[in-house]
Amino acid sequence: MSASESSPTVSSSRDCADCPGRPVLERIESRVAEIGEGFSIRRALPNRQPRMVGAWCFLDHAGPVDYARGKGLNVGSHPHIGLQTFTWMIEGEILHRDSLGFEQVIRPGQVNLMTAGHGVSHAEDAVNDEPGRMHAAQLWIALPDAERHRAPSFHHYPELPRREDGGFRITVLAGEACGLQSPAQVFSPLVGIDFSANAAASTRIALKPGFEHAAMTLRGSVVIDGETLEPGTLLYLGSGRDSLNLRCDNAAQLLLVGGEPFSEEILLWWNFVARTPEELQIATADWNAGQRFGEVKGSPSARLLAPDIGAIKLRKS
Ligand code: MN
Repeated sequence: MSASESSPTVSSSRDCADCPGRPVLERIESRVAEIGEGFSIRRALPNRQPRMVGAWCFLDHAGPVDYARGKGLNVGSHPHIGLQTFTWMIEGEILHRDSLGFEQVIRPGQVNLMTAGHGVSHAEDAVNDEPGRMHAAQLWIALPDAERHRAPSFHHYPELPRREDGGFRITVLAGEACGLQSPAQVFSPLVGIDFSANAAASTRIALKPGFEHAAMTLRGSVVIDGETLEPGTLLYLGSGRDSLNLRCDNAAQLLLVGGEPFSEEILLWWNFVARTPEELQIATADWNAGQRFGEVKGSPSARLLAPDIGAIKLRKS
């Protein structure tokens, strides 16, 4: 998916509150943003309270939404640099097409992971014109400096490791948890876990104390160490926790992300993660000139243009 503001502000990780180095419960309200035509999503990160969670730097919660005939997702071809896009499908289907030639439908329970490296472009569209339902989380992972210029790649993970505990189905999307290792290829120490329950459930999950963590409810209501969390709020948990209690009284689903605090400063603007404004300007000029990012074939959606580079505003710190 694509960041779509017409004159986005550059978010600098310098402006992020540092990881407090201890457990906290900090509620960050999502804001509503638009991806594609008529598709509103909840954007938890980046936000007015800028925050990374490990290398996770962008967190969209799309849907659940029922759409009419011909009104499904249509995010036209757009570029990325310096990050990985991580899509977790909950309901419905999305067709991914990219400049590497991959064309991949993602279905519930599956992950699409695209590593942008020095540059890639992709489009995300409904699979057909039929009415349907869509519910997904899309996250971005900042690439560390040593990896951010690598060649782009795309991986589809049709199955992720899972186990049942206390009524929750626990799926390890990224990293290692509950003795299970996700196959997703990531480049810094991080974790992503989905907890899904069809009825009341309760579990206690072991965490790495050196990681910072945050939780986002995808459906229903989940109680996290006594704090009730519903869709629309990101709960930042700090670091220094060796476990976390999760409970729900009815069907619910929760996404937990975490990672080693990301020590490098990053600049996030539009669909790019970089280190300097010049890198953002060059990437923007390259995209608008039709260079560097290849071509996405077959998407019915219009190619997106980068916003005016003159509109780049560095947030004052
Ligand atoms: Mn995208």
